[in-house]
Amino acid sequence: MAGTLGTTMPDNAVASRSGPSLGSLASQAGVPLDGTQLAHFDVYRSLLLDRGAKVNLTAISDPDEVDRRLFLDALQMVPALDAYQRLAGVDERGRARRLQLVDIGSGAGFPGLVLKIARPDFQVTLVEATGKKATFLQDVITALNLDGVAAIHARAEDVAHDRRHREAYDLATARAVAALPALLELCVPLLRLGGHAFFPKGLEIAEELGAGQRAAPLVGARVIDADLLPSGESRLVTVEKTGLTPPRYPRRAGIPAREPLGGNKVAKGKTRAGNAPTSPDDATGMK
Ligand code: SAH
Repeated sequence: MAGTLGTTMPDNAVASRSGPSLGSLASQAGVPLDGTQLAHFDVYRSLLLDRGAKVNLTAISDPDEVDRRLFLDALQMVPALDAYQRLAGVDERGRARRLQLVDIGSGAGFPGLVLKIARPDFQVTLVEATGKKATFLQDVITALNLDGVAAIHARAEDVAHDRRHREAYDLATARAVAALPALLELCVPLLRLGGHAFFPKGLEIAEELGAGQRAAPLVGARVIDADLLPSGESRLVTVEKTGLTPPRYPRRAGIPAREPLGGNKVAKGKTRAGNAPTSPDDATGMK
């Protein structure tokens, strides 16, 4: 429970903390965390701060900022995932059926690894094109001794044509990877019929949303929501897979972002800085 925080936190993580604890921030966001989860976040935070700058994982070096801008940002998505889980006829602990979640372009684990810690019953696959980041993800998984989570060093374009992954997931997420049309092309092929994708985005997304709405039917999906998240600083774009995705999608590596489906390329400058499309630097395909 939150009361055990002081005893579970490594020394280096307690130093110079001034903001509210992650436990209280998460509770306020409607996602209470137990002692094990808080201990997991403590280890994760330490690894991130220790290796973040070296591996170019994050520019954030302040532990409070890690909590607020990385952990809490991802935890805010949990109520939407819980609502989906209830809709899918699974009990709140995921007992009836273990939901399969794929996170595309996880980077240092956002949001996929945070969601795995918050909802350990989910079976989570993290897809990351950059080798050093995929290695970091695996190191965190090992340090936390998590099961039901895999980090794959690959591009989503390749994973989505692998029959072990195509149409195999209930849920897909991606944060700060690409504009909506490319995200749809990369993620919807991985979803089973009736599955949902959740993409956190900035506030000003009218143009990107329009492009996403044009692209969605081409891959067998529809955009159903772009609700404000509790912080008031971002929106959660929610997509439902409504039909089969034609086998030609996603197109080969790099094309979904360069030639977005539905036309009308969204300029980089039009997306929130944190959500600007990023090119992987050493993508090598499936391992
Ligand atoms: N989601 C993380 C990282 C964002 S940076 C966060 O919110 O912090 C975007 C990441 O997506 C990079 O690590 C990049 O290597 C990865 N990426 C970009 N295109 C990809 C693709 N097609 N397949 C897999 N990973 C991709």
